[in-house]
Amino acid sequence: MNIKEILNENEFMFKKKFGQNFLLDQNILNNIVSLGNISCDTIVIEIGVGAAALTRKLSKKAKHVLGYEIDITLKEPLQEILNGYDNVNIIFDDFLNRNIKDDLKDFDYKNIMVVANLPYYITTPIITKFIDEKIDVEKIVVMVQNEVADRFSAIPGTKSYNSLTIFLNYYFDIKKAFTVSRNVFYPKPNVDSAIVVFSKKAKKIEVKDEEFFFKLVKDAFVQKRKTLRNNLKRYDLDKINNILKSFNKDISIRAENITIEEFAQITNKYISK
Ligand code: SAM
Repeated sequence: MNIKEILNENEFMFKKKFGQNFLLDQNILNNIVSLGNISCDTIVIEIGVGAAALTRKLSKKAKHVLGYEIDITLKEPLQEILNGYDNVNIIFDDFLNRNIKDDLKDFDYKNIMVVANLPYYITTPIITKFIDEKIDVEKIVVMVQNEVADRFSAIPGTKSYNSLTIFLNYYFDIKKAFTVSRNVFYPKPNVDSAIVVFSKKAKKIEVKDEEFFFKLVKDAFVQKRKTLRNNLKRYDLDKINNILKSFNKDISIRAENITIEEFAQITNKYISK
């Protein structure tokens, strides 16, 4: 029986609130799997297993697949769909409520890759969860609505460039890999999607004090339309102005026009003086 038939046989009801549009196109599933550099030492964390078409393919390449699925009514169909896929473990829970290190502790692996196909509003909390819990992830492959795919790697001066962009780009090289037509999902959603790949930076930008760096960036963007003079009142503005002058900018600029490298330099010079 194929996946659709198993879902039907189990009278599975699709739930919009969980963003349930399942991807069943074999070519696209293969293309997603090939983005991950999965080896026989890799554990793949898959968030939002759904009907497990991707899970099956991941399990053939990886050492283990640790999947999370919030919808408990998928438990029975998944038992059938994943029958014989012995290196797959599914946790039926909201991924955002888990402690990732605890869940990983019983597995043996050399590297971690993450795959997630979830509504956009949960995608960012998921990525920041891996950063906050200090999980050393090689790659995160996410599927999001096509029109938001470029937001993660927004460049200075654009509407989407904000403190989150800087935070994510500090840890990862971020690239849109390809778009995925709405026609390949079951049921068909209203929008096309895109695959975005977050690869761990081989060499992070040098920042002498990460905590200060992130606070400075957050404060600089606190009111996006205001200048640094307004947003950074609690800092030594003369000092910041002098640092900005070294790259031909000044305190009357907005944070959206400062690059991540410049924020790093402001941090390093500010704390060393
Ligand atoms: N990976 C499958 C695929 O590509 O066909 C399913 C993708 S479907 C768009 C998203 C899946 O994530 C749904 O099965 C949904 O129930 C599950 N989900 C949504 N929010 C979740 C959460 N917070 N934690 C775990 N799973 C979640």
